[in-house]
Amino acid sequence: MKTNDLSPIIEKIENRQRISASEGLQLLQSNDLITLGRLAHEVRQEKNGDNAYYIINRHFDYSNICELSCHFCAFAKKEGDKEAFLHGIEDMQQKIKASLREGITEVHMVGGLHPSLPWSYYTEMVRAIRDLDPALHIKAFTMVEIDFFARKYKMSLEQVFQELMEAGLNSCPGGGAEIFAPRARRKICKDKIDGDRWLEVMRVAHQMGLKSTCTMLYGHVETEEEIIDHLDKLRHLQDETGGFLAFVPLAFNPELSVLGRAFRPTSGVKDLKMLALSRLYLDNIDHIKTYWVTSGLEIAQLGLSYGADDIHGTVHEENIMHMAGSSSPHSLSVGNIRRLIGEAGFQPQQRNSLYNII
Ligand code: SF4
Repeated sequence: MKTNDLSPIIEKIENRQRISASEGLQLLQSNDLITLGRLAHEVRQEKNGDNAYYIINRHFDYSNICELSCHFCAFAKKEGDKEAFLHGIEDMQQKIKASLREGITEVHMVGGLHPSLPWSYYTEMVRAIRDLDPALHIKAFTMVEIDFFARKYKMSLEQVFQELMEAGLNSCPGGGAEIFAPRARRKICKDKIDGDRWLEVMRVAHQMGLKSTCTMLYGHVETEEEIIDHLDKLRHLQDETGGFLAFVPLAFNPELSVLGRAFRPTSGVKDLKMLALSRLYLDNIDHIKTYWVTSGLEIAQLGLSYGADDIHGTVHEENIMHMAGSSSPHSLSVGNIRRLIGEAGFQPQQRNSLYNII
């Protein structure tokens, strides 16, 4: 076991002082999960009380056709592949209509970087969802997709966001961040936009008034220093814009990706440590999400005592992680979510996309 005197850092956290990158690294390298959990729980309770949030939502992946081939990704296919799909707008409307009858308040929509769709596909898709229900929150397109739209359709980032917002876009998901460090990025997604560009696109989103989440993919080639570097960059941007609603640490699932053959799934200890570290490092982001789709239900439930305050939502139909081999269910009922939260000793609170309690 590594010896690692955490006392000065513990004192800082207990006095609610911001920890430095090197102190974050020291926490990450500590084996004292119980202390990390205790500290993270205190911060979580101070920010969110006994509340543990969930949302009634559905995921909708409009297409898995992508011109890139990131090594960690088992979702993307090429045009003509057996498993490739592209949803038409009517088909999408029908699916979302069915979910609206079940009470969703948010649709979460992403897709691959499709090489041949017209720009109108995206704006019409958003408009068609908006037409179904003016109150439904549309959270769509990662910064990777937004950058792709700007380059492909020769528009500024502002113009892309403006047109999508006019069609009905309300906020953006935080995917595509993976890990910002260029060394790691070269190994897992060398053709994707770099970390600086992801942050630049997100900065514009926030400046345009769009809120978002932010993510980090861990459990692959990244080093401990690269994890801290990633969290630090997010903390900096949040200081500047205040646009992040929640942080979502995503455990890499090695099952079916090209990269995966060399890796094992992350352990429960690692997943809980990432939640606790995130809660302690990202002092300016109100919510930490324990994403049951990647972590599994057991860790998601335990995660509520390790700094997380949000267990995500009903989801309805998740493809990205399941095509990578996730064995968690494709959706969760509200009853199950509330039971998981209640059993963990927290107060289940249905939230909307902006974290207002419904
Ligand atoms: S991670 Fe995104 S950009 Fe990369 S291959 Fe998969 S769908 Fe395409």
